[in-house]
Amino acid sequence: MFKIVTFPLGPLETNVYLLLNEATKEALIIDPGMNPDRIFKPLEGYEVKAILLTHAHFDHIGGLKQVRDRYGCPVYIHHEEAEWLTSAEWNGSLRWPQVTRPMTFEPAEHLLEDGQELELIGHTFKVLHTPGHSPGSVSFLHDKHLFAGDVLFRTSVGRTDLPGGNPRELFKSIQEKVLPLGDHMNVYPGHGPATTVGYEKQHNPFL
Ligand SMILES: [Zn+2]
Ligand SMILES: [Zn+2]
Repeated sequence: MFKIVTFPLGPLETNVYLLLNEATKEALIIDPGMNPDRIFKPLEGYEVKAILLTHAHFDHIGGLKQVRDRYGCPVYIHHEEAEWLTSAEWNGSLRWPQVTRPMTFEPAEHLLEDGQELELIGHTFKVLHTPGHSPGSVSFLHDKHLFAGDVLFRTSVGRTDLPGGNPRELFKSIQEKVLPLGDHMNVYPGHGPATTVGYEKQHNPFL
C-alpha cells in the first residue's frame, strides 16, 4: 500500500495528494496546486516518479514548473487537455487576474486515455475519463481509492460553467463511472474533505 498525504494549496484551496510508498521510498504527486512549497518537506527521502494531473485548471497545475524542476519527473494528463498546459486562456489563468498571473507550461510527457493502466510506485492506477467539469478530467483508481479531481465533492459536484464544461457529461461520468465503483469506494476530491460513494449516494443533493 501507500500512504496518502494531503493538504490544500493556494487561494482556491486545491488539494494536492502525495502518495508515498514507504517500503520503496517512491512517491507520486497528484495535482501540484499553486504555491507548492509545503509539499517538499513530506517528500524528503522519496524519489518522485510522476506528477498526475486530474485536469488542467490553473489551481491544479500552478506548481507544475516548480515541482518538475525540483524532481525532474514526467507529467501525465488526458490528451483532451494536453494543450491547456500551454494556453493561459484554456487553463483559466487569464480569467482570474485577481488570484493568479497568466501561466503556461512545457507540454506533458505522457498523454492519458480512458481505461489505461499506469504502473507507478509499485502499484497499478487505472485512468477513468470522467469529463464534464472539463473535457479531459480524469480520475485515478487504485483498489478502494479514487482520486477524482473536480468531478465529485463531498455533498457537491464540480462546476460546469467554465469553458469546455458540460453538465450532462458530468452527470454521465458520475453515474456511469464513479457510482458503480460501489459504496465503499473512498473518493478524494480536488477540493474539500474526502468522502465515499455510499455517503454521496445518500447525502449529495446533486445526485
Ligand atoms: Zn477544475
Ligand atoms: Zn479545482
